[in-house]
Amino acid sequence: MSCRHCGSGQLERLGICAFGERDSTLLRCRQCDLTQRQPIPDETALAAMYADTSPDAMDYAIAEHPAWSDARSLLGARAVGAALRVLDIGCHTGAFLAALPGHWRRFGIESATAACAVARSRQVEIIAPRLQSVDADWCGQFDAVTAFDVLEHLPDPALALRSAARLLKPGGVMIVSTGDIDRWTFRALRGAHWYWQTEQHISAVSRRFLALAGRDSGLVLSQFRTIAHRRAPLGLRLHEAMQVCYWYCRLRRGVWRAPQRLLQALPTLRHLRHAQLPAWTMTLKDHCLAVLEPVSR
Ligand SMILES: [Zn+2]
Repeated sequence: MSCRHCGSGQLERLGICAFGERDSTLLRCRQCDLTQRQPIPDETALAAMYADTSPDAMDYAIAEHPAWSDARSLLGARAVGAALRVLDIGCHTGAFLAALPGHWRRFGIESATAACAVARSRQVEIIAPRLQSVDADWCGQFDAVTAFDVLEHLPDPALALRSAARLLKPGGVMIVSTGDIDRWTFRALRGAHWYWQTEQHISAVSRRFLALAGRDSGLVLSQFRTIAHRRAPLGLRLHEAMQVCYWYCRLRRGVWRAPQRLLQALPTLRHLRHAQLPAWTMTLKDHCLAVLEPVSR
């Protein structure tokens, strides 16, 4: 087996994805640092997974979504009154773009038919169904290119960064958010993390990978923030953190059975003894918001 970004054979095994239900292994490349599920479906099967995505699937309120609200603040600070041209890759229904100032120009890349219709009703111009099919005329046309929860769906996130970098104007900015494989929940649960329970998640990045991939695309990683996927009250975050601790103990067995029993004696965690897989703990800080900017020449 070799890394599907750099071709290196130096791959660290992080376990079977979601306990082997889908028969794939999680690997981390020691050379380029890309974490990757192997094997993955072919291009046609991957594209087919997204065509029928429901318009309701990702239509969050911006206040609940730290990546969106942080990105909006970052772009607002750069705009200083100007009307930016913003392209959102995987814009879905255009919920993020719709939350930007009304005089800005909104563009999207999206393949799900029903979601595109909603995005157009929000004054989003859909320029292509997929990043690979964007016409060359769009190169150098955007002040900002965003991609929220997109990189984990791609066989090689570095290729996407390269394609997206060409679309930026000089002095433009790229903002991406995705899972950060170096955060504690990913390190604790490895292949058992909820991220790997969906077949659509096939890659995970780190700060090091983004810095290297950005450099290869003429971009410098200028900011890297740790964020949660969803904003939630402290009580829910603590509950989810305890669930991760429970699964950490359960997966290790041996001496870890004692703390596992203590945790599952708690009324709020008692149900976990019958659970087959870790829950989707999306309120913990295990994602990143990365800002990449063209290297000035
Ligand atoms: Zn590699």
